[in-house]
Amino acid sequence: MIIKECKECKLSNTRNKIVCGEGKGNILLLGEAPGKAEDMLGTPFIGKSGMILRKLLSLMSLEEVYITNLVKCRPPGNRNPTEEEVDKCLPHLSNELHINKPNIIIAVGRVAATHILDKNQPKRGVLLKVNNVLDYSPSFNLYVSHIYHPAAALYNPQLLSVLEADMRNLTKEINDIRNPHTIS
Ligand code: SF4
Repeated sequence: MIIKECKECKLSNTRNKIVCGEGKGNILLLGEAPGKAEDMLGTPFIGKSGMILRKLLSLMSLEEVYITNLVKCRPPGNRNPTEEEVDKCLPHLSNELHINKPNIIIAVGRVAATHILDKNQPKRGVLLKVNNVLDYSPSFNLYVSHIYHPAAALYNPQLLSVLEADMRNLTKEINDIRNPHTIS
């Protein structure tokens, strides 16, 4: 399936631009869907909440990341993507996983977390399959975690400090994974 021409789900009727993932590195950040600004420009995480996330990544020196979304087209009114839309779009995410081969995946927000976190192995293990479509089995350990969606901090500024603390903890965990011999 060529993503630039994808019309697999009804979001193709209302989108302006398909928003493909961007960046590189062995960390993959997964949001739920593009918002208004992303839809206009075709670039992920460039709206107000995306800028919060990018600033946090920069503060934590986590610039080498690949960022993408569960679905690549904006749901009207920024509603959550439906199960059907997520399922239709999963082959694109599978392609991204196989091309980038991340060993750390961070779900941004509840919707993305719900779809990829394996409740039985919340930190380490296999990425959740949805209707057996997504099957990502890297040969190395896969670490999966999740953080608040930065949009929540737009509505509740107190969450910004929670998000910052989460990112700080996550960065420490990532550094421990990258440098296992320094773990005390
Ligand atoms: S959301 Fe995904 S499956 Fe649906 S039209 Fe866009 S690219 Fe295709």
